[in-house]
Amino acid sequence: MRFARGWLLHSFALKIVTPVLGGAVAISVAVAGLLLWSSWEADSVARERQKRLAMVVISDLKTSIAYDQESVTVWDDSVRAVRQGDSAADWLDHNLGSWMSTYFGHDAAYVVDPENEPIYAFSGGKAGADEDFRRLESTIVPLIAFLREEMRTGRNQEPAGRMLTPGAADLMVVSGHPAVVSVKPIVSDTGEIVQTPGEEYLHIAVRYLDDSLLEGLRHDYLFDGIRFAWQDDSGKGETGLPLLSDSGAVIGYFIWQPHRPGTTVLANLAPVLLGVMLLALLTISGLLFLVNQRSKRLAASEARMQYLALHDPLTALPNRSLLEERLEEALDALENTRDMLAVLYLDLDRFKQVNDSLGHPAGDHLIKEVARRLGKLTRHGDTVARIGGDEFVVLMPHRREAGEVDAFCERVIEAMRQPYHIDGNQVFASISLGVAVAPVDGIDRAELTRKADIALYHAKSSGRSRYARFGSEMDSMLKERREIERDLRVALARRNELAVHYQPLYTARDMQITGVEALLRWRHPQKGWVSPALFVPIAEETGLIEALGDFVLREACLAALAWPDLTIAVNVSAIELRNPAFAGKVADALAEHGLEPGRLELEVTETALTDHIGECEGNVRALREMGVRIALDDFGTGFSSLGRLHQLKVDRIKIDRSFVSGFGKSSGDEAIIQAIVDLAHANGLRTTAEGVETSEQGDYLKTIGCDELQGFLLSRAVPPEEIDGLLGAKRRRSVASAA
Ligand code: C2E
Ligand code: CA
Ligand code: CA
Repeated sequence: MRFARGWLLHSFALKIVTPVLGGAVAISVAVAGLLLWSSWEADSVARERQKRLAMVVISDLKTSIAYDQESVTVWDDSVRAVRQGDSAADWLDHNLGSWMSTYFGHDAAYVVDPENEPIYAFSGGKAGADEDFRRLESTIVPLIAFLREEMRTGRNQEPAGRMLTPGAADLMVVSGHPAVVSVKPIVSDTGEIVQTPGEEYLHIAVRYLDDSLLEGLRHDYLFDGIRFAWQDDSGKGETGLPLLSDSGAVIGYFIWQPHRPGTTVLANLAPVLLGVMLLALLTISGLLFLVNQRSKRLAASEARMQYLALHDPLTALPNRSLLEERLEEALDALENTRDMLAVLYLDLDRFKQVNDSLGHPAGDHLIKEVARRLGKLTRHGDTVARIGGDEFVVLMPHRREAGEVDAFCERVIEAMRQPYHIDGNQVFASISLGVAVAPVDGIDRAELTRKADIALYHAKSSGRSRYARFGSEMDSMLKERREIERDLRVALARRNELAVHYQPLYTARDMQITGVEALLRWRHPQKGWVSPALFVPIAEETGLIEALGDFVLREACLAALAWPDLTIAVNVSAIELRNPAFAGKVADALAEHGLEPGRLELEVTETALTDHIGECEGNVRALREMGVRIALDDFGTGFSSLGRLHQLKVDRIKIDRSFVSGFGKSSGDEAIIQAIVDLAHANGLRTTAEGVETSEQGDYLKTIGCDELQGFLLSRAVPPEEIDGLLGAKRRRSVASAA
C-alpha cells in the first residue's frame, strides 16, 4: 500500500506537476524573450530615426545658412559694396558681417574677391579678423574652387529648391570648432550688374555645431544629453553619430542618450508582467496542490477501502479474503523448498455463553483480547486472521519442525486459559485448535483448510481446550463415532453393558468420605471399556443422553440407599436440563426410591446454567426448591466469571482438574484456585477440587481452604461394592447398632 502511494505521488510529480509547471515556465520565458526582443527592436528603430533626424537637422542647417546668405548676397547693393572694397567697410560690416551674426547667429563671415583674397572678415564678434580667415583658407579653398567651377561651367544653373544662386557647403573644423561652412556668390538681384561667371565675390558663412545648435537639438528635438566629441567616446546607454564632411572625413561625433521607447515600456511593463506571471504560477501551483491533495485523499480513501475490504473491523486482523490470498501466496512460496506451512483453525469454546450472559460488548472485548494474545504468540511473517464470530486462523509459513507447531498450540491453549478482565469481571475462556500442515496434508488451499477444520472438530469433540493435528485416522474416527452411536443404542436396550461406578469425595480437613460421584461406565462387547469422555458427547449429539441420564439417576438413587451418610452426585448434561420435564423426572426418581432430595447433588456445567434455550433455568429453580443441590462442574473451563459467581444459583463449585494438574507447571493456576476458593466462600459456596493426583496437590488445596478433594490420589471411580468396602467400618458399626 505504501509502495503504491509512493508510486502515485511520484507519478503525479512526473506526469502532471513537471509538464504543467514546465509549460508555464516555458511560456513565461517565451513571453519575456519576445518582450525583450521587441523592446530592443523598438529601441534600435528609435535610435536609427534619431540618427537620421540629426543628419537631417545638419543638412537643413546647411540649407538654412545658404538661405540666410541669399538675403544679402543676391542684392545689387552688395555687389556694388564689395567692389568698392575698404571704402564701403562700414556697410559691409553692417550688412554682411555683424548683422548676419546678430540676426542669424552665424559665428563668422568672410568676403573674398575674385582672386580669393579676403576683403572682409568677421569672427569672434568683431570685424577685421583677417588672420582667422588665413588659418581657415587652406581648408576652405577646395570648397571655393568647387563653387567657382560651378559658376563658370553653369552647371547646376537651376539651384535646388527655392535657392536663387548655387552654393557650396560642407562640414569642417573652424577655429577649433566643428562647423558648417557655406559659400555663396554675391550677385545682382536685378541682373543689371553683369559679372563674369566664376569671377564673383563670394560670401562665406560659418556656423559652429557645438553650442547653440546642440542646445537646439537638446530642447527642440529632445536629444538627451547631446554633446560633441572629437572621438567616439560614447558610454553606456549612449550612441554616437559621426559627422562626415562631403569627402567622407570624420569631423567628430555627436553623442547622446538615444530615446529608448522599448526599454521604457518594458521598464513600466516588467513589474506588472512579472506580477501577472507570478500570479499565474501561483494559481497553477495552487491548483496542482489541490489536485494533488484530492488525489492523495482519493488514494488514501481507496487504501482505506481496500483495508476495510481485507480486514476485520473489530480486531483489525486480516479477514477471510486476505487470509485466502496469503494462504495462496504462502503455498506458492512453498514450492521447491523444504519448508512446511501450518494452517491452524481456532475456535473459542462456548463463546456463545459470554455473549448470552455478559452481553455483546463483553463478547467483542473478549474477541479483541483473544486476538491480542494470539498476536503476541505468533512471530513475524505469520498471519492471524479472524474468519468468523469466534473463529480464527493462523498461518505459520517457513517452519521446519513439526514440534514448533505443537509447541505453539500448547502456548495458545495456555495463554487463552488465563483469566480475562472484562467490565470488572474475571472471565475464563478456552480455545480449541485444529492443525493441517502443507505439504504433508496437501498443497491445495481448499484441501488444507478442510483438513484443519476436521482437526478442529476432533479437538472440540475430544474435550475442548486442546489441539489436534489432522491425521488420516480422523476420517476413520468419524466412522467410529457412527459405530459408537449404533452400539450405544444397542447397549441401552440390553443394559448389561452399562454400569455406574462411584468416585468418593473426601473432606480436605480430615479425609472423611462425604459423598460419591456417579460416573457412567460402558463395557463394549468388542472394544472393552469405552470412556464416557468419548461416548457422552456422541450421546449428547444424538439425543441418547436422556436415556443414559435416566439410567444413571435411577441406579444412583438405588445405590444411595445403601450409604445413608453420603451425598450422591449425578452428572447432568445441558441437553437434559433443556427438557421442561427434567425436574419432574428427578422428583419421580427420588420418590420411587424414597431418597431424600437433600442427598442428591446434580453436577451441571456453566453452559447448562447460562443456557437460555429451553427450560434450564426453570429446572434448576424447581430442583433447588425441592431441596436438590446443584454443583457447578468443571469450573474454569467455560466462560465462568468469578465476578458473577454470586449470580449463579448453585451450592458448590467443582474446580476443574486442569487447574489442579497445572500446579507448579504454569504460574497463575495456584493464584486462580485461591481466588476461586476465596470468592466461593465469600458467596457461601462449598468447593471441591477435581483430579487430585498427588499428595502435594492435596496438601496445597487443604491449606488454601478447599472443602472437598476428589481424584485418583484418593480413589478412582469404583463399582458400588467397593464403596461398601471403603465405608466398611462405618457400615458395620451402623449394622451392629441396628441389631
Ligand atoms: P466429570 O464430570 O468431570 O467427571 C470426572 C472425570 O474425571 C471422570 O472421568 C473421572 O474418572 C475423572 N477423574 C477423577 N479423578 C481423576 C484424577 O485424579 N485424574 C484424572 N485424570 N481424572 C480423574 P470419566 O468417568 O471418564 O468421565 C468423563 C466425563 O464424562 C465426566 O467428567 C462427565 O462430564 C461425563 N460423564 C460421566 N458420566 C456421566 C453421566 O452419567 N452423565 C453425564 N451427563 N455425563 C457423564
Ligand atoms: Ca462431574
Ligand atoms: Ca468435572
